[in-house]
Amino acid sequence: MEINTFGVIGAGQMGNGIAQVAATAGLTVIMSDIKIDYAEKGLANITRILGKNVDKGKLSAGDKDAILGRIKITADLKDMAEADFVVEAATENETLKFKIFKDLDTICRPGVILSTNTSSIPIGRIAAQTGRPDKVIGMHFMNPVPVMKLVEVIRGLATSDETFHTTWDLSLKFGKTPALANDFPGFIANRILLPMINEAVFALYHSVGTREDIDTVMRLGMNHPMGPLALADLIGLDTCLAIMETLYNGFKDSKYRPCPLLRKYVEAGWLGRKTGRGFYEY
Ligand code: NAD
Repeated sequence: MEINTFGVIGAGQMGNGIAQVAATAGLTVIMSDIKIDYAEKGLANITRILGKNVDKGKLSAGDKDAILGRIKITADLKDMAEADFVVEAATENETLKFKIFKDLDTICRPGVILSTNTSSIPIGRIAAQTGRPDKVIGMHFMNPVPVMKLVEVIRGLATSDETFHTTWDLSLKFGKTPALANDFPGFIANRILLPMINEAVFALYHSVGTREDIDTVMRLGMNHPMGPLALADLIGLDTCLAIMETLYNGFKDSKYRPCPLLRKYVEAGWLGRKTGRGFYEY
């Protein structure tokens, strides 16, 4: 199937980044969220980022308008009936994603691929909610989407070769470099990244170092562009906790237990940059 119209579910930091990249690649984009205000906020973020690119001379004002003109927003999932390919980038919550995939399966045409940007939830579990498990795949973008080159493509047990090749080729069309992962909790990226972040939170919890010293050690000592606590704030502490829970529940191995301090921050609503407070203040 030719992909002209690209559906994005969730207009949060990942969803609006994915919508921007797809529209920049020339596709018509429908971006949905549960409330139109949230979708508008996502679109406003895309407008702001494209505006910055115009100011820096990286993009013409005409191209900016053309990209924005290709993005339609909605609060009605039924509008995904027009989509030729869908990526789901809603909140990292299994029950919520299961419901979205059940609904998408009835809304989208039979041949349409339903991909998920989940950070850690097994693709097979999501695919099993639909009558088209061969058309379900992980398309895991990195944050911030317009900047980061990687797309982790995750094949579920039932994912067909055709679905895999279409998703791989679409990642290339978006100017990204895909890498293939098999379907285990956390896949490759977050199986490695999140235990490191969680360990940094334990180091803070045990007063091994201050937040600044922990991040400085990893930036200057390991040459990481950001310290793990600052990165956790960027990812969102709720998302970090959800990923650790998926790893812990999926492997039943105590090495993946989330740090109590991470849970405490999430319970307090300190979710990182998106709420203005996480390990740092914004
Ligand atoms: P976010 O909190 O910024 O945005 C999530 C959005 O989903 C919100 O706007 C919310 O209103 C919306 N939403 C919730 N239920 C919905 C529904 N039923 N229909 C449509 N929209 C709905 O979160 P995010 O950081 O953008 O994460 C989204 C997904 O991307 C998660 O699965 C997360 O694990 C994954 N992810 C996140 C990162 C990261 O660094 N934050 C990186 C890669 C993947």
